[in-house]
Amino acid sequence: MPTWQNWSGRLTSKPEQLSFIYSEEQAAALALASTKAGQSLRAVGAGHSHKELVVDGDVIADLQALSGVISMDAQRLTAWVAGGTKIFALGAALHRHGLALPNQGDIDQQSISGATATGTHGTGTSLQNLSSRVIGARIALASGEIVECSPSHNSELWQASRLHLGAFGLVVALQLQCVASYRLQEQIQKLPLNAALDDLDDLVTNNRHCEFFWYPQSDIANLKTINPTDAAAQYPLAGEGERCGWNFEVLPNHRPHLHTEMEYSVRASQGPECMRAIQSLLNDTFTDVRWPVEYRTLAADDVWLSTAYQRDTVTISVHQDVNLPDGDYYRACEEIFLDFDGRPHWGKANYLTGEQLAKQHARWDDWWRVRDGVDPKGTFLNPYMRSIRP
Ligand SMILES: Cc1cc2nc3c(=O)[nH]c(=O)nc-3n(C[C@H](O)[C@H](O)[C@H](O)COP(=O)(O)OP(=O)(O)OC[C@H]3O[C@@H](n4cnc5c(N)ncnc54)[C@H](O)[C@@H]3O)c2cc1C
Repeated sequence: MPTWQNWSGRLTSKPEQLSFIYSEEQAAALALASTKAGQSLRAVGAGHSHKELVVDGDVIADLQALSGVISMDAQRLTAWVAGGTKIFALGAALHRHGLALPNQGDIDQQSISGATATGTHGTGTSLQNLSSRVIGARIALASGEIVECSPSHNSELWQASRLHLGAFGLVVALQLQCVASYRLQEQIQKLPLNAALDDLDDLVTNNRHCEFFWYPQSDIANLKTINPTDAAAQYPLAGEGERCGWNFEVLPNHRPHLHTEMEYSVRASQGPECMRAIQSLLNDTFTDVRWPVEYRTLAADDVWLSTAYQRDTVTISVHQDVNLPDGDYYRACEEIFLDFDGRPHWGKANYLTGEQLAKQHARWDDWWRVRDGVDPKGTFLNPYMRSIRP
């Protein structure tokens, strides 16, 4: 039996089969064979999720060989990309044709389908998550059919599967709405956390990207701002906090230290208050936690299961070393996040039931109805997904 583990090593699985996918036809055949055998099938991207999204099924499909830009429309600024493409492989390839992702997360190691599966995002009050960039998809369904969906064709499937949680089928290609290439200048400053929180409205409004990390037991926030620039890219690239270059050179960071993470999205207007509550929890109760708290912003969108669905958002992430217990800390944080009507990041730790998730997501039943329509036997559900099913 093969063994699979996620990035942090916290989640492991022994599927009956680990299948490497090299073509769309192979993806479709595997989906059909799994359905006929009554096996559960889950795809893996880069395995960077902290939640039990990939584990404990019968078959894991690794799509990273389905990689690269398939086609581009430089006028409409759109691109079809293969489902397993890593985000780091997209930047230069899109840029050669004048295209760019409008935003991306802290790292660029995720696959594009894995990132859109969970609503992966960066920071910026005017910038939405990656799922919102999906304007078309090709999915190998449980029936063995490869279906294409977009706002004008199979539109409900497109709506639901922009944030898909791996539950609709094997995503073999995505069409992304990009923007024109742009260069960015990055800056980091250290300032007292209270000063950062007091000035936050201005900071997040006046910078394209703004975020901070606060290190518990210190008063200091590391505040990063990133803005468009006409200046030429400076090579070799400077270190984090001083880079000037193309978007895909400046936005991603190196985050090698293995950790677990919980992240919740709260209303933008309540971000500072929620942050202060987490700060008090760390100062008063969890005084041994050394890992930072990250504060970012995210624009509202219309993606059915997005944590920013119809509301401008602040995301607050808490971390812990992978070798240290995190349960008591995360549960205490979750209580605070829920007091603020927070919605959990789909790829990170949370302890919510399906009933709780249903209350947070207005399109929950629609999402499941569309999903069940293309996978009535539940081929693409693993134990976690079954546990939250209505
Ligand atoms: C160091 C680190 C930094 C991170 N930074 C950020 C950040 O800045 N912002 C943020 O929002 N999140 C961040 N995350 C979380 C991460 O972006 C998400 O968990 C993301 O979903 C991981 O992508 P992946 O390719 O590793 O997908 P996986 O974790 O492998 O899979 C995620 C889901 O996608 C499904 N899936 C993957 N590929 C396919 C496919 N081809 N077809 C169908 N289903 C598929 C899987 O079944 C699963 O349900 C970070 C995680 C780590 C470990």
